[in-house]
Amino acid sequence: LGSRISGALRKMTDSTVIDETALKEMLKEINHALLEADVNIKSVVQLRKNVTERVKLEELAAGVNKRKVIQKAVFDELCSMLDPGTAPVTLKRGKPNVVMFVGLQGNGKTTSCVKYAYYHQRKGWKACLVCADTFRAGAFDQLKQNATKAKVPFFGSYTETDPVKIATDGVNRFKNEGYDLIIVDTSGRHKQEEALFAEMEQMAESVNPTDIIFVMDSAIGQAAYDQALAFRAKVKVGSVIITKLDGHAKGGGALSAVSATKSPITFIGTGEHIDEFEPFKTQAFVGRLLGLGDVSGLVNTIKEAGLHENVEMYKRITEGVFTLRDMYDQLESISKLGPLNKVMGMIPGMAEMMKNTNGVDGSVRIKRFQHIMDSMTMKEMEDPKVNFTASRKERIARGSGRHPQEVEELLIEYKRFSKVVGKVGKMSKKNMNIDQLS
Ligand code: GDP
Ligand code: MG
Repeated sequence: LGSRISGALRKMTDSTVIDETALKEMLKEINHALLEADVNIKSVVQLRKNVTERVKLEELAAGVNKRKVIQKAVFDELCSMLDPGTAPVTLKRGKPNVVMFVGLQGNGKTTSCVKYAYYHQRKGWKACLVCADTFRAGAFDQLKQNATKAKVPFFGSYTETDPVKIATDGVNRFKNEGYDLIIVDTSGRHKQEEALFAEMEQMAESVNPTDIIFVMDSAIGQAAYDQALAFRAKVKVGSVIITKLDGHAKGGGALSAVSATKSPITFIGTGEHIDEFEPFKTQAFVGRLLGLGDVSGLVNTIKEAGLHENVEMYKRITEGVFTLRDMYDQLESISKLGPLNKVMGMIPGMAEMMKNTNGVDGSVRIKRFQHIMDSMTMKEMEDPKVNFTASRKERIARGSGRHPQEVEELLIEYKRFSKVVGKVGKMSKKNMNIDQLS
């Protein structure tokens, strides 16, 4: 999606005359890309209508940068599509807030419950978990294991079969014990079965939740809108959590979830690990959707990880310069940061490189690339203009114990990546500086 939309924006950047025809063309491209990314057709139509209404080219004064006006309109429209117009439910400190998680099986409820508890616990909340899933075998064990790891108190039962009773008992117990964030995990079944919804309604009635969070897998596709709507029709969904944004999902379903539930996205899941969970940031999300890369988020992640030595590099990246040394350092940081996907995902094109290729795992591939780069000269590593001759490539391959084909692959990846970095740099400098847009 990102590349297609940024492609559409770029096409316009390249065309000298920006008129209604160019605008229409661009919007058509963006529409296609959004549909491909599983954005609901209604939202797509709405975006096109809104941008067309907003941008009155002939009314713009001479000297106004039309391209920038259009780009800002697209950016803003996507942002407002992610804004339901209602504020997220506020939890009150010191009060027994009950938060119920709902969603179909496998969407990431249990994982997100524990992440949510852990996140709040670190912010000083007295959080606890209630496992009211009696449907899935081993559900209580799964929650127990994760909660124990996170050091969050939990409640559940191996013998009780009525989930409503477990939820009620658990919530009452924790209320009496003075917890101020009581999180209830529920069962999700494969389909939108009546029994699931009936159980969910009864539970909501019984525990009277402060907030109900709808958990949605980002890879759900076009089904997102209907699924979210089905849940919203039965219980008062107040927030949405989108999971598995670390995968290859395009994330378009997020817009559908917001429009169906009329509730804000509050957090996103970016991995299986307990701290791969972040507050949702609309502008960063849209920036990634548009293929601009979340450069500021990237810098923050590096800072948080204590890898300050790389700040110079990120400054250069935002200026569009990228050397093989930068690539090496980037791969190194990623190994240090652990899960490969997060930093990668912020730079368009990087994620591509991480995919399994010919059965070779992404992390193995990265190590091989690093070995190859270890056989290069300083000049080759630091001067982006160096030309690698066939014999030089062969020498490098021999020096690193790899096949010349792999050296070729590395250089292709490098070229691809530096091209993306160049675009990001150019965009952030000239056309679409995210910071300036906010
Ligand atoms: P539930 O059935 O809705 O409770 O879903 P689970 O919490 O059991 O999650 C189903 C699977 O998705 C598990 O293997 C989780 O580890 C995985 N999962 C959940 N959230 C994420 C995420 O943000 N990223 C990734 N990669 N996997 C996730
Ligand atoms: Mg579960």
